[in-house]
Amino acid sequence: MRLLIVGPPGVGKGTQAKGIAEHYGVPAISTGDMFRAMKSADTPLARQVQQIMNSGALVPDEITDAIVADRLSQPDARGGWLLDGYPRNLGQVDALDQALAGEGASIDAVVSLTADEDVLVARLLQRAEIEGRADDNAETIANRMRVYREATDPLLSVYRDRGLLVEVDGVGEIAEVAGRITAALDAKLA
Ligand code: ADP
Repeated sequence: MRLLIVGPPGVGKGTQAKGIAEHYGVPAISTGDMFRAMKSADTPLARQVQQIMNSGALVPDEITDAIVADRLSQPDARGGWLLDGYPRNLGQVDALDQALAGEGASIDAVVSLTADEDVLVARLLQRAEIEGRADDNAETIANRMRVYREATDPLLSVYRDRGLLVEVDGVGEIAEVAGRITAALDAKLA
């Protein structure tokens, strides 16, 4: 099973990704988590990534595409995966298509989690107080929302045209949203 989860900042992609991945028995691979894990490294690349994330911009495609391709080639990802936060622009869609074509593999479904932007900003500001993530401040949040609208939102029509898109309302209790996602996916994949 090869799945993608796409959605604006704060919609709960990371939380839901873990549940869905467990449900289908595949690893959840999050580019945001991989980049955050680099924070502890004191190298020029790690410093560059951290600076970019703190601004809310996207890490350059050549770095992101290489990191994802490397991760997808690891043994636990051979049988499938759920990608959370990748692809995030049309260039990354092409890079993923190429990586998959090389293996004769294809995406089974793309979950699009939705919520209104004002709900998301409120969630992120609340998360800032609890988790203290460096990119959960008002200025960076506004930038991440703009990047999502401009760079990531166009992906949805690409996957819709391919007949892969499964749209799910991301507003509600975690378990309730999780139930909606697995029900929608099971219906789609049946
Ligand atoms: P959110 O979706 O809530 O903004 P993520 O953890 O998915 O959080 O991503 C955090 C940051 O990591 C992004 O703002 C971006 O700087 C970087 N990042 C994550 N995934 C990608 C990607 N596919 N391409 C480029 N940058 C990425």
